[in-house]
Amino acid sequence: MEKELEQAGFGKVWLAGAGPGDIGLLTVKTAQLIKEADVIVYDALISAEILTQIPAQTEKIHVGKRSGNHLVPQEEISRILVREAKKGKKVLRLKGGDPFVFGRGGEEVEALVREQIPFEVVPGVTSCTAVPAYGGIPVTHRDWTSSFHVITGHARKDGSCRIDFPSLVRLDGTLIFLMGMARLGWIVKGLLEAGMKESMPAAVLEKGTTAKQRRVIGTLQDIEKKARQAEIQPPAIILVGAVCSFSSAFTWAEKRSLGGRQFLTTRPVQNSSILAKRLRDLGAQVIELPAIRTEEISPNEAFDCALQKTGTRGDEEWMVFTSPVGVSAFFAQLRKRKMDIRTLLCRRSQIKIAAIGSATAAALCEAGFFADLVPKMYNAEELGRMLAKQAKPGSHITIFRAKEGSPLLVPPLHEAGLFVEDVALYRTCIQKEEAWKEKIGSMLENGEIDAVTFTSASTVKGFVKAMEGLSFSRIQAVCIGEQTAQEARKYGMQTEVAAVASMDGMEELILQKYGGR
Ligand code: SAH
Repeated sequence: MEKELEQAGFGKVWLAGAGPGDIGLLTVKTAQLIKEADVIVYDALISAEILTQIPAQTEKIHVGKRSGNHLVPQEEISRILVREAKKGKKVLRLKGGDPFVFGRGGEEVEALVREQIPFEVVPGVTSCTAVPAYGGIPVTHRDWTSSFHVITGHARKDGSCRIDFPSLVRLDGTLIFLMGMARLGWIVKGLLEAGMKESMPAAVLEKGTTAKQRRVIGTLQDIEKKARQAEIQPPAIILVGAVCSFSSAFTWAEKRSLGGRQFLTTRPVQNSSILAKRLRDLGAQVIELPAIRTEEISPNEAFDCALQKTGTRGDEEWMVFTSPVGVSAFFAQLRKRKMDIRTLLCRRSQIKIAAIGSATAAALCEAGFFADLVPKMYNAEELGRMLAKQAKPGSHITIFRAKEGSPLLVPPLHEAGLFVEDVALYRTCIQKEEAWKEKIGSMLENGEIDAVTFTSASTVKGFVKAMEGLSFSRIQAVCIGEQTAQEARKYGMQTEVAAVASMDGMEELILQKYGGR
């Protein structure tokens, strides 16, 4: 059947849950679909951390709706899914939490069935259990409660909201209300009138599993007042039951070194940042904004020329690399020419290799080369100075790097009388991703992002371009080195510079400044 539909040019829809916010709670299947879909139709509740994983070329349709402020009516969402699938596309319908838990996933499936569109459902981690877990509350506990019940507090179209409070009270389990914040007072009143004790523990959990999660713990008697005082905003869930009293003893999310912190890393499109993983491991939420893109220069006559000459001039020659991207671009160029490193090794000069820092040296090592020189301070100027000292007088230095490489590397080499050839292997281009500009812009303005990390001057340029029009003066910029910081200061950002220009250095600085609360 599905084969027939495929032959008829139909695509397919995946109705998938994205979990409650933390990217780590995305299922493996949904994470894969995010990378593979042609078009993604997503809700307001999907976190920026997850949205920024969507590739630039993927079509994105925002159908976000918040209670009372419907952006796109439900029927229209179903129509969009059918329309896109009929174009033959791989459609990912991305919903907060689990698609079938108050997600109106059922209605969307009805439309797909009606139109005979092939589909799959990918369950997600639902906020009902995950948000309490991140708030230190087990929804069941052998000694206290043997069931939990999930209830919507959302009113019907006619404004009524029917909840059978006496039955709920009789169940004697944990009660979990979703979409109930607008009716918290009414829910409390209903439970009390049905005979629940005023001393029954209760909790309100806001933006659970995210860096900005907050909770209010109380009893039925005071929970409404406490939630009002704390100005709790949706999305939030209301929990009623004895298990709520575990919350303070079982707190864990906020206790992680970077718990409660949110960072934005500006990464090259091609690779997700190592720094993002490290910060997440320490408990932070990390939005990875693709800010730059590297493009190999091809055809590359300058490289061909350099390759012919390298190793043929004098006793000693140096090959210099200034980034891991440069290392992989170098070997990619060799592969393209069906050459391997023997081409260079069998020539007359001894070839030595210099790397700007530990990550570049590690990339070389991966390719089977141990760098002869890595400066103590990982920057272009220091590399130039060290190489000027170490290279044999009159030898040739070939630098394989980006077109827009630092101007500080070459002068010390020239001053030392060395011959320098600066070969551009790739270009760094600015990646402008319009789709998240508004969302991330308002998060930055509201102080929801603690700091933005930059690992090169070009990532600063890319970020500024992507966020054009934003006031940058309140942004805390964590920079890998002084040159990067200088670029950030041009736009008025507050800068901090890592003591060592490496991922370790960045991590250390972030932990010092934002860790251990
Ligand atoms: N399908 C979703 C629920 C959609 S209804 C799921 O399985 O989680 C939307 C309601 O879910 C919100 O009003 C709120 O009550 C709850 N919710 C979703 N994400 C939440 C979060 N991160 N923190 C607190 N409540 C959340």
